[in-house]
Amino acid sequence: MFRHRFLLILYPAQGHIHPAFQLAKRLVSLGAHVTVSTTVHMHRRITNKPTLPHLSFLPFSDGYDDGFTSSDFSLHASVFKRRGSEFVTNLILSNAQEGHPFTCLVYTTLLSWVAEVAREFHLPTAMLWTQPATILDIFYYYFHEHGEYIKDKIKDPSCFIELPGLPLLLAPRDLPSFLLGSNPTIDSFIVPMFEKMFYDLDVETKPRILVNTFEALEAEALRAVDKFNMIPIGPLIPSAFLDGKDTNDTSFGGDIFRLSNGCSEWLDSKPEMSVVYVSFGSLCVLPKTQMEELARALLDCGSPFLWVIKEKENKSQVEGKEELSCIEELEQKGKIVNWCSQVEVLSHGSVGCFVTHCGWNSTMESLASGVPMVAFPQWVEQKTNAKLIEDVWKTGVRVDKQVNEDGIVENEEIRRCLEEVMGSGEKGQELRNNAEKWRGLAREAVKEGGSSDKNLRAFLDDVEV
Ligand code: UDP
Repeated sequence: MFRHRFLLILYPAQGHIHPAFQLAKRLVSLGAHVTVSTTVHMHRRITNKPTLPHLSFLPFSDGYDDGFTSSDFSLHASVFKRRGSEFVTNLILSNAQEGHPFTCLVYTTLLSWVAEVAREFHLPTAMLWTQPATILDIFYYYFHEHGEYIKDKIKDPSCFIELPGLPLLLAPRDLPSFLLGSNPTIDSFIVPMFEKMFYDLDVETKPRILVNTFEALEAEALRAVDKFNMIPIGPLIPSAFLDGKDTNDTSFGGDIFRLSNGCSEWLDSKPEMSVVYVSFGSLCVLPKTQMEELARALLDCGSPFLWVIKEKENKSQVEGKEELSCIEELEQKGKIVNWCSQVEVLSHGSVGCFVTHCGWNSTMESLASGVPMVAFPQWVEQKTNAKLIEDVWKTGVRVDKQVNEDGIVENEEIRRCLEEVMGSGEKGQELRNNAEKWRGLAREAVKEGGSSDKNLRAFLDDVEV
């Protein structure tokens, strides 16, 4: 008989799958039974799911088992919610009838309809927030009494925005892109979704929000909004690359892209801290001109590089290594891969710098591995993460301060940042020292008795029925 039976519902995106799988594994290691559910389409794309006793996977159909290809995201969100709610309702009922009822439901960002279903059955819930606590605070303020203040401030790019309890001043360019209205097609659908999520959270008293962060990293942001019970339980990273408690836990086990071979062997052949690792995550597609500038900078800086450029998934995708004018030179001097085990790469001794889009998982993985960054944010919350990396945690430099009239960061500026981070000068040394400090604090947090470890155990006691 299990003390806890969790149902974990995931938004079908790589940035949700990785931390959620890691949470599922942690819960199992603490004696729980966990059922993980996402869409049939995503479930099929993951070929390396973790196999553990007491961890099971049960996908559901969102009506688009071959993938959703239209740009009508609102349509997808409403069908996803309707079909997902039916699935969760039926699963709760059938598990109860079979004598092993769920004791708690956990859902990732934006899926607050899961909490609506859980309330009907009087089941406890928690949201797994897959971005930093700071972003949750900013969104909260935007939808609660500070919206007009923020909208007013962003009219002037030289203004600074100050929000209660947050230890940083934000320029408009540091805000999540959704709040700037720079992409009306996406913003018109995503902003109402976030608004609805906060509306749903408002219905609850002190909703539990598990955050993939750790106490020392965001102490003030975790307490800024006292309506929430934010519980830092991160970094959610495979144990082998963090506390080493479970040496078999060497992968998230949730990759939705084809993994390339030979990365470790290639890294083994390079000197200590000599390699620049470049990845823009699972969703970003850089304009071709930006790719060319980046390629030139990598070639000119002289360091070996490992660059993740995903194969084209469809004809309209602009990114693709085939289009790069200097592809032969790139393949001679560096290694270009479709997808790699990023945590394995970042923990390899030969990596000296991470050129990153500052997705939250990538940021956490870099902090936990002690790798300094060239922050190259694109959209969503990445600009805020870049601000935190550069000005608060001081483990990287931001490359997007100087862009040309087309919004492109040019070769010289990228190279300057690479040299700053990789170089033996004062700045490079300071970044490496800070990166090492955060690496140590991340490990402290997850070890037995560390803050994240204690928080997760306390959460289990709290949701015990
Ligand atoms: N990742 C990976 N291999 C790659 C590139 C990325 O395993 O070649 C993983 C990375 O470790 C992280 C996730 O993909 O866990 C990307 O999440 P993130 O939040 O950084 O960015 P997103 O893809 O959501 O933009």
